[in-house]
Amino acid sequence: MKANEKQLLLQMDRQHVWHPFTQMKDYADTDPVLIEKAEGVYLYDADGNRYYDTNSSWWVNVHGHAHPRIREAINRQLAQMDHVMFAGLTHRPGIELAHQLVELTPPGLDRVFYSDNGSTSVEVALKMSFQYWQQTGRTGKTKFAFVENSYHGDTIGAVSVGGVDHYFSVFRPLLFAASAVPSPDVRKGPSAEACVAEALEGARKLFESSADELAALIVEPMIQAAGGMIIYPAAYLQGLRELCTQYEVHLIADEVAVGFGRTGRMFACDHAGISPDFMCLSKGLTAGVLPLSATITTNAIYDAFYDDYVKLKTFTHGHSFTGNPLAAAVALESLRIFEEERVLDHVQDAAAHLKEQLKRFEAFSGVANVRSLGMVGAFELYKDRAAGVRFDFAERIGFRVYLEGLKEGLFLRPLGDTIYYWLPLCTTKKQIDDIVARTETVLKRMGFRDF
Ligand code: PMP
Repeated sequence: MKANEKQLLLQMDRQHVWHPFTQMKDYADTDPVLIEKAEGVYLYDADGNRYYDTNSSWWVNVHGHAHPRIREAINRQLAQMDHVMFAGLTHRPGIELAHQLVELTPPGLDRVFYSDNGSTSVEVALKMSFQYWQQTGRTGKTKFAFVENSYHGDTIGAVSVGGVDHYFSVFRPLLFAASAVPSPDVRKGPSAEACVAEALEGARKLFESSADELAALIVEPMIQAAGGMIIYPAAYLQGLRELCTQYEVHLIADEVAVGFGRTGRMFACDHAGISPDFMCLSKGLTAGVLPLSATITTNAIYDAFYDDYVKLKTFTHGHSFTGNPLAAAVALESLRIFEEERVLDHVQDAAAHLKEQLKRFEAFSGVANVRSLGMVGAFELYKDRAAGVRFDFAERIGFRVYLEGLKEGLFLRPLGDTIYYWLPLCTTKKQIDDIVARTETVLKRMGFRDF
């Protein structure tokens, strides 16, 4: 791109665009990176510089950017049918995808309701659970429980069950009340087992005192992502499943971020061998290429809505782009790629390599809690690890890592002092080595030392 064209675009960006989750003042004298091309695991800016997309473009990308089969699937579908509404009408991509999702997700999940982003897939689950209890005679079950540190999206319902105060506290007066159960935050010690036992005990206490008022509990399976990349043992999920069954509270598994192979299994719930009552999917559903989401539930819940129209049991919820055929066609192609290219086998291998390579960070001053699951790896940066002193919020350590990362060809977007990778599933072992080496250079340049 010519230099004057780039400058003009950036000037227009500054004038007219409001970016998500961004303090725009940060860019008063720093340009955002103007991306012109994305291919495989790489992003290319307007000057031709290359960056590793280490967070899969906000945790969505699966098979790499510009995958030829995905491109062909969009073109094929576009030639046939673009978008049509999904009430009164149905179509092959929407039907076939629903069938595939039911086949792939844990047993008992049989009904697929589409929407178009992760937050709406959560809203749908919350509303369906609430309405289910209203029309099955348990009208007192109107409240929700969530896990501390959890994040389920930015719409008001999803924020109400969100546990990251830093993002949400300003909206508190707008939100419905929901109860928090403890996070199985294994970083707090003394052992993973003890953390899980304590967290489950907290959930049991809440259920004991208020299960009659609780419609559902929502959880991010295996990784509390936006809340700090907290990777926890499958036993916590198994424990929650048992409690939800015992106390008749729906279990909503929000697999928006972790679904579709990111943790090494197709769905994170598969690590625990559990079936939730609702599973929310988005992001990787279309290989991270087009917006689509699905809330999948059981026939028992579906049946409670199945009645004569006049009885007002209909689920009166829908979005303009529900079941978008282009997105559904891409999702189907992505699932074929998973199977034909044996993607999960590659992930097993690459994930083991990532875990090994991440150990290199343990030698660094200021690095703590190095951890990984599947293609997700993370660690915290401390000002003084030995004394347990963290960086002050005002020091913007994450933003500084982001800026240094760019110079090293990495698009890294830390969560505060948590540095993480959320790699495309197609990342090779050689690319993992390169990403880790470049990150080491970033840390050294910022004054962290390896011993
Ligand atoms: N649930 C989880 C676990 C998420 O991580 C996210 C987004 N990061 C969402 C829901 C919301 O998805 P979306 O941004 O597509 O609304």
